[in-house]
Amino acid sequence: YRTDYISLDQVPVWKHSGTASAKPLYKANDELNQKISLFRGDITKLEIDAVANAANKTLLGGGGVDGAIHRGAGPLLRKECSTLGGCETGEAKITGAYGLPAKYVIHTVGPIAPGTVGETERRALRDCYYNCLRTATENQLRTVAFPCISTGVYGYPPEQAVEVALKTVREYLEDNPAQMDRVIFCVFLKSDEDLYKSRLPAYFPQA
Ligand code: ADP
Repeated sequence: YRTDYISLDQVPVWKHSGTASAKPLYKANDELNQKISLFRGDITKLEIDAVANAANKTLLGGGGVDGAIHRGAGPLLRKECSTLGGCETGEAKITGAYGLPAKYVIHTVGPIAPGTVGETERRALRDCYYNCLRTATENQLRTVAFPCISTGVYGYPPEQAVEVALKTVREYLEDNPAQMDRVIFCVFLKSDEDLYKSRLPAYFPQA
């Protein structure tokens, strides 16, 4: 038992702040809104079914959130990852979570997109979110957290990445409402928290 672990009941469901006025891109759906959280902090502390990892193609560990996940999970994660034969951009592979409080890690490899984002990169980032959600569902995992995939070292502009993340999750939940209880957008930077707060109302508008 660790007191710094964060259980699902400590992560509130996302609520409109009242001042947000982004133009809605989808219909209000309160059932879907109840499945969304915005959490700023360390994804390795979340005691949920699965955390997504913004990995690299080797799956053998790296910097940023990948480094944090491998440090928290311990060497057995690298050992399991080394049996997987790497991972292509946009694909997802599931492993145990070992020393982490989550049950599983779903590794995905985001596109490298410094500066310019083309349709190839946009599609690859969408595939990351979609394939992580699909992998979770295939494994009966109902609570999943995502870091801001590709927006660190991989250079994908955060204000473009947030649109892909929110659109993909919105559409997945709409198509699979019974399969998922909570999707947590786990942001690390204050700037990403502000970005998600301003864009969530466009994808998950209030009735
Ligand atoms: P990528 O290589 O896909 O760009 P990075 O790990 O460099 O991945 O960055 C992705 C995002 O993860 C960034 O927003 C970074 O601030 C964030 N991040 C770094 N450490 C953590 C952590 N422990 N928990 C959640 N997010 C993190």
